[in-house]
Amino acid sequence: MRFRRLKFIKRFVPKTLFARSLLILVIPVLLIQIVSTSMFFDRHWSKMTSRLAFSVVGEISVLADYIEKNEEDDRAINALVSLYDDKLDLLVDFKRGETLTDQPVPVWVGWEYMIGESLMREMSGMFKTPFTVDVDFQEKWVEIRVQLTQGVLYVSLPQRRMFTSSSYIFLIWVFIISFVFLVISVLFMRNQVRPIRRLAIAAERFGKGRDVSDFKLEGAREVRQAGQAFLDMRTRIQRQISQRMEMLAGVSHDLRTPLTRMKLQLAMLKETPDIQAMKRDVADMEKMVQGYLNFVRGEGDEAMVLTNLSLLLQDVVDSTRRDGGDISLELDGTDIELPLKPLAFKRCLVNLLGNAVKYAPRTWISLSQEEDRIMLVIEDNGIGIPQEQYEDVFKPFYRVDSSRNSETGGVGLGLPIAMDIVHGHGGKIWLEKSRHGGLRVNIRLPK
Ligand code: ADP
Repeated sequence: MRFRRLKFIKRFVPKTLFARSLLILVIPVLLIQIVSTSMFFDRHWSKMTSRLAFSVVGEISVLADYIEKNEEDDRAINALVSLYDDKLDLLVDFKRGETLTDQPVPVWVGWEYMIGESLMREMSGMFKTPFTVDVDFQEKWVEIRVQLTQGVLYVSLPQRRMFTSSSYIFLIWVFIISFVFLVISVLFMRNQVRPIRRLAIAAERFGKGRDVSDFKLEGAREVRQAGQAFLDMRTRIQRQISQRMEMLAGVSHDLRTPLTRMKLQLAMLKETPDIQAMKRDVADMEKMVQGYLNFVRGEGDEAMVLTNLSLLLQDVVDSTRRDGGDISLELDGTDIELPLKPLAFKRCLVNLLGNAVKYAPRTWISLSQEEDRIMLVIEDNGIGIPQEQYEDVFKPFYRVDSSRNSETGGVGLGLPIAMDIVHGHGGKIWLEKSRHGGLRVNIRLPK
């Protein structure tokens, strides 16, 4: 149960480090704001309001007392009333002979409630006769009526006598300042997260076999440590790869000389079936050695240039057709142009098409473009590859089964080279079963 709830919460937790750190920063600040604001309202504000109410009601009761004691002396009452108006900001009117009618129970919300309630409390403590309190926060005005022996005392006071905006402004300032600091810390935090993101991108690029030479160490100590570990790992892997490549290159190169010698010696011998078989073997070996050398050399240094892929594909298809391949080509109306390493990409196409015509009687190719990518699909109706080996055939020197390859003479490098080249272009290559029965090779390239 607990576990399920955790999972539920996890769904709403942001995924990126930046968003998570932001949340860690914002939530405490918000909580502090809410707690301190509510405490402020509860303690400070209500105390302030009740003190203000106490003083206003006190002034009213002094006046009421005076009126009760000098009932007949209108002049004295009027003099005091105008004094209240001038000095105390209270508008007073005494209406002799009136009685207070019943007022509906007022409905106050928010500020009105706070002011009204404290006035009611103070009034009921001070007066035993009926009274009413009216608060209109919109109009910024409060009205109090009190029943005296001879009539009704009307007192109107401006809202400022009951309400101080300084506390209000204080709160606004607290929010503004916290917001400003929050923005500043977000900016700083972004700088902290950026190096981690760069490291992740560099690791991803390296994993795809791309160039990461522009990766720089930056950020906090731990991030730098991780970056340094990544760089060390990269150097180690590159060294291992280059050692193996050098060895393969050396072996292949050294084998070429004795092979050429054998070829010459065989050419001088009489043509018997045995000699013919040996010649075929030597030719196969030469092809393999050439294949190893091509693989080792790679086409990594070639520059990207804007290339017409439709033309390039047409070219490769034409030359494969000349060698006897039965290919149907479907091109997307307009020419497709994109930055490519033309030689490398041609080699990739030659490998894939070569395989298709080698292992199948018929091949279908289609090139199409979508909004942000280009799709190249090569399908055939041959024997295909068992599905569980779709990944393995991209490993160098991997061959599906030796019996079917004995006459094709490949070395298991065609697909790995093709994959390297596609990855080198930021694309993706994967295998599927073709609707024609054989293999379907999909290539997706970014535009
Ligand atoms: P090779 O040089 O042996 O052709 P690849 O790397 O190009 O090496 O291919 C690896 C293996 O995948 C091959 O040995 C072959 O058995 C199989 N293969 C490749 N393409 C096809 C295809 N179109 N149809 C059937 N099998 C294929």
